[in-house]
Amino acid sequence: MSKLAAFGGTATVPRDRRHVQWPLIEDEDRKAVLDALDGPRLVSDTDGVNAVSRLEEHWARRFGHEDCVAVSNGTAALALALAALGVGPGDEVIVPAFSFIATGLAPVHQMAVPVFADIDPVTFNIDPDDVERRITPRTKAIIPVHLHGAPADMDRLTGIARTHGLAIVEDAAQAPGATHRGRPVGAIGDAGAFSLQVSKNIPTCGEGGLLVTQDAGLAARARRGRQFGEEIQAGRDRDYISYGLGWNYKMNALQAAFTLAQLDRFDAYERARQANVTGFLARLAELPGLTVPTALPHTTHAWHILRFRFDPAAFGLDGVRPEALRTALRRLLRAEGVPLSQYQLMPLPDQKVFSDRVGFGSGYPWSVTGAPGTTGDDDHPVTRAVIADSLTVQKRHLHPGAGELLGLYADAFEKVWANRDMVATLAKAAS
Ligand SMILES: *Cc1c(COP(=O)(O)O)cnc(C)c1O
Repeated sequence: MSKLAAFGGTATVPRDRRHVQWPLIEDEDRKAVLDALDGPRLVSDTDGVNAVSRLEEHWARRFGHEDCVAVSNGTAALALALAALGVGPGDEVIVPAFSFIATGLAPVHQMAVPVFADIDPVTFNIDPDDVERRITPRTKAIIPVHLHGAPADMDRLTGIARTHGLAIVEDAAQAPGATHRGRPVGAIGDAGAFSLQVSKNIPTCGEGGLLVTQDAGLAARARRGRQFGEEIQAGRDRDYISYGLGWNYKMNALQAAFTLAQLDRFDAYERARQANVTGFLARLAELPGLTVPTALPHTTHAWHILRFRFDPAAFGLDGVRPEALRTALRRLLRAEGVPLSQYQLMPLPDQKVFSDRVGFGSGYPWSVTGAPGTTGDDDHPVTRAVIADSLTVQKRHLHPGAGELLGLYADAFEKVWANRDMVATLAKAAS
């Protein structure tokens, strides 16, 4: 049995193998950005073809969306989708308690109250039963998040939405390329939001987002909202008249050009990623006390983040707190060169912006209705359990050439599992 790196042994992943570039920036990306710089328009504020309109068209075609509206970031795409659906003051929007903060902020940006539902322990996505329990006469929409790239239970959620007359905005920020029963995520609900932020599966060189929809009217309202409430019409000069509430959520041509170039390589990257990740997970699945993420049979998983749950009892550590085992494993695996980290330190309702009901002015939007749904009202036990007993791998596995590195990560896990007595000593000391 080889000695653990934390105690003076040789690290499994050599230092010079640890750095992974993401996103991968190739000559095509550089050329695309420089060409856009010399192009006719740097922003999407007029009609006519430029990199922004080409990205909208390519994305819609590649992922099977009727319409695509490019915006400044994924958070703007979520908020704009809610605005275009008429969500506003006095409304409630049900969101998962486990997500990136933007999912909870987007309703607040529309002066609507986010109501947090617990998650499924396997997919980490919003639990349809808990969604149903939280519906009130004020509920207007649901935002299922396809967290980590795993599609949410869209069969149940669309059924619930239909029964109660609710809209669905899919938060697909982590899931481009994921499918549910063969349909691309983002095309199942009334609208979908993607993020092109630089760490996501299909990145831009900074910030960007896309709103997708099958509804032409919704797309038109989103386009108007993206640009000060103006109507931009083909062949007509901009008239600078605001027909409705708008923001400045436009994307620029450089961001669009970079993503267009990345989109050309997405299918090749995606094939490599699927092979690399599934091979890695198959090896880790053999280890007792470790649960690897899974793709449900009728879905394609985009593997944006890999989350591993650790079970003290199955590890042979009855009575040890999950946090203690997690802390021990993180320390030992990091020493071996596996950059495990936490993703989300608390359930969304515990974030101060929600628990203190900061919002706008004197507690808006919560003070509009006195609506429940934030912290103190309930506990979200599954979300809390997942946060306590899991760690993630982020970004490194997205690189199409990550297969060999993931092999070394698997070697490191196996080495640590072979030294389970040391893990037990550390975990018990921390418990
Ligand atoms: C990244 C992300 C967002 C926000 O996207 P930005 O482009 O960073 O604004 C929203 N939801 C989820 C789940 C995300 O991961």
